[in-house]
Amino acid sequence: MQSQALLDQFARWQGEMLGLLEQLVNIDSGTGHAAGIEAILDILEPRLKELGFTTRRFPSPVGPHLVADGSREPRVLLMGHIDTVFPVGTAARRPFRVEGHRAYGPGVMDMKAGIVSMVYVIRALAAQGLHQHVRVIINADEEISSPHSRALVAEYAPGCRAAFVFEPARSIQEVTTLRKGVGDVTIAVKGRAAHAGAAPQDGLSAVQELARITLALHELTDLERGISVNVGVVSGGTARNVVPEHAHARVDLRFATKADGEALMQRIREICAPSRPGYEIEVTGGMTRPPLERRAEIEALFAQVQAAGRELGLELAQASSGGVSDANLIADAGVPVIDSIGPVGGKAHSDDEYLEIDSIVPRAALAALAISRLLAHEAKAAAS
Ligand SMILES: [Zn+2]
Repeated sequence: MQSQALLDQFARWQGEMLGLLEQLVNIDSGTGHAAGIEAILDILEPRLKELGFTTRRFPSPVGPHLVADGSREPRVLLMGHIDTVFPVGTAARRPFRVEGHRAYGPGVMDMKAGIVSMVYVIRALAAQGLHQHVRVIINADEEISSPHSRALVAEYAPGCRAAFVFEPARSIQEVTTLRKGVGDVTIAVKGRAAHAGAAPQDGLSAVQELARITLALHELTDLERGISVNVGVVSGGTARNVVPEHAHARVDLRFATKADGEALMQRIREICAPSRPGYEIEVTGGMTRPPLERRAEIEALFAQVQAAGRELGLELAQASSGGVSDANLIADAGVPVIDSIGPVGGKAHSDDEYLEIDSIVPRAALAALAISRLLAHEAKAAAS
């Protein structure tokens, strides 16, 4: 595919793309609102079928996810989520609107514009007969860390040579190749209750022990290395004059590599060894999201996307993020992934969320060009 032809094609489609975006934004699809999720799939699924995709819906407690496959062995995975963080009624209260160069509405950039981009990128690939090796996963629970769809990613990502997540970008010249991993740890300390005035020597303060642990955990933060530890919630004790028997903490962990995440968990368990006999300390939880590590395969994939970008006059840089996305899960499944290939916007998860309309065409062209090069390579490999 030629870069100028793609830019022209998406420019012709832009009006239609905004029309589809308006339709999607005006359907509430906050995570768990299954009726909204289904209504959105009812719009997207026929479009994929029309292009020759076989589609399957996978029911879940928060609404169905969709997996769609071209007619041949899947080689490139495209992924996006259709859930938002906004409650039912938001779309009615502040529906899709365009003001100047920006579009507004719930989920407009995170990530309904990315979903629209994905659909039209597939259409552009199909126009060249390049879509047969494409697999699509659309999930409905990304905003709550994909508890129901992560098994789908683990099952349907492997085998693909590359993956693209259509999350929004912060700048037209960026894609994301590093996202930190996340851990969620709960610490429960049991000491021994006693009267704080009459018999303090009989007590063993769970709060005191948790305070020691809290200070030690915060010492593990190493920002240069991409590690942060935050004891976000603490509770404990029952009354002012009672030596507290119980104390609890909820801890958030961020780390740039899986090895660092594992080492961090090991250190936490060591720190949580009782400082005195009589304490019982339970550590539960662990890594909930593996990091998207900037490994060599991802660097290589980025170089290909960067080359496509140059043909379109974009000098792409690799962005990193402390936030997670489904790209973390795809990377953990062993598939090189480029994230934030969608259009540009800002203020996600807020009433001021916006999409830069002028980014729709160049970003869709970027995705289509990069993916078409990979697929053309696959088609050649399959033929030889
Ligand atoms: Zn998102």
